Amino acid sequence: MEKEEIINFMKIDFNIKPIDELNKRISFPNSQIKKIIFRERSGFFYKFTFSTTFDYLENKEVIFNEIYIFNLKSIEGDLSEYVLLESNLKKEEAPNFKNAYFVAKEELKKRIQEKTNNLSKVLILNLEKEKEKIEKRFGIETKGFQKELEEITNKLMEFARKGEVEKISEQKKLIQSIKEKSNFLAFEQDKLREIRLEHQKHLLNVENKLEKTTVIQYPIYVFTLDVKAEPLKKSFVVEFDPLAKEISGLTCESCSNKVREIFICSSGHASCKRCSLNCESCNKDFCKKCLKNVCEVCSKKICKDCSVRCFRCSKLVCKTHTKKNLISGRFYCNSCLKRCERCAEMKDPFTFRVSKKTNAEICEDCFRKEMQGKVIGEVFN
Ligand SMILES: [Zn+2]
Ligand SMILES: [Zn+2]
Ligand SMILES: [Zn+2]
Ligand SMILES: [Zn+2]
Ligand SMILES: [Zn+2]
Ligand SMILES: [Zn+2]
Repeated sequence: MEKEEIINFMKIDFNIKPIDELNKRISFPNSQIKKIIFRERSGFFYKFTFSTTFDYLENKEVIFNEIYIFNLKSIEGDLSEYVLLESNLKKEEAPNFKNAYFVAKEELKKRIQEKTNNLSKVLILNLEKEKEKIEKRFGIETKGFQKELEEITNKLMEFARKGEVEKISEQKKLIQSIKEKSNFLAFEQDKLREIRLEHQKHLLNVENKLEKTTVIQYPIYVFTLDVKAEPLKKSFVVEFDPLAKEISGLTCESCSNKVREIFICSSGHASCKRCSLNCESCNKDFCKKCLKNVCEVCSKKICKDCSVRCFRCSKLVCKTHTKKNLISGRFYCNSCLKRCERCAEMKDPFTFRVSKKTNAEICEDCFRKEMQGKVIGEVFN
């Protein structure tokens, strides 16, 4: 960049209500936003004004290009829809825009390419014409000499046939003088010199100059959102770039996609709609990561709280397909429970005892009752 470069600092005044803009763009279907606060940080983009001088033949043509660079990409710029104000930003406070300038230079090359190509084509055609003219002019003269030489040679041959020695030497002198007069070598050099000159005249000289850099500052809004999904609380930091009209910061914790609609999982994870599921047992919302268990009896997708491992067969089952033994605190799946022939209930298979009366296996409760009956019987007998 040239030393005497001109830098202008401007800023955009967006006439917007940041929180409204945020609410328009994001939603929390299974939770409530409790609090939103925001601050501003500065975003920047640049306008580079270049002049390009096309210097060729007798012409000097100057064109101007304004190139807008945003996030290191050239954008179709038009600032007329924004309210632009003078910014009191100092050069030291502005971020380094060297890379943006390089991108702009590349874009400039693209923009002037077509004109450069067209001018080059015209110049090449023109040069060919000029060269033809030169060739023609030199050609006529050369032909004249050649014709003279041909005639003399013919004469020479004839004299030789007739043996007229004196006339031969006379013709030889004539040839020598014509050769000297035409001086082929110098002649050819003259021609080449003229062609070279035309080449130089037809060169296209393209010169780019950075005339002005405009640094445009604008506010990016950074929000902190407190969301409540009973009994959980969660905070998000979300950015809104009013120039790109883009929201960032909301990501699904399961698939890592950027999203605008966030579901809060019962374990507190943020997830997108596709990754948000219900436990088919307790019906609470969960994310994909949290809803990995499947009941091996009924195939329902169930959450951790609703999954139980059978103490006997180790199958993972949902609560509706299990029973808890109140004394041991152990869970059993339905197929591992045993029916007690006395009370007809499904009971823990490991607690059955042999009845002293009937010799059948009966459940612990029934066994206890039998024993108590026996004791009472003994007391009364
Ligand atoms: Zn997802
Ligand atoms: Zn559940
Ligand atoms: Zn989760
Ligand atoms: Zn089940
Ligand atoms: Zn079991
Ligand atoms: Zn029983």
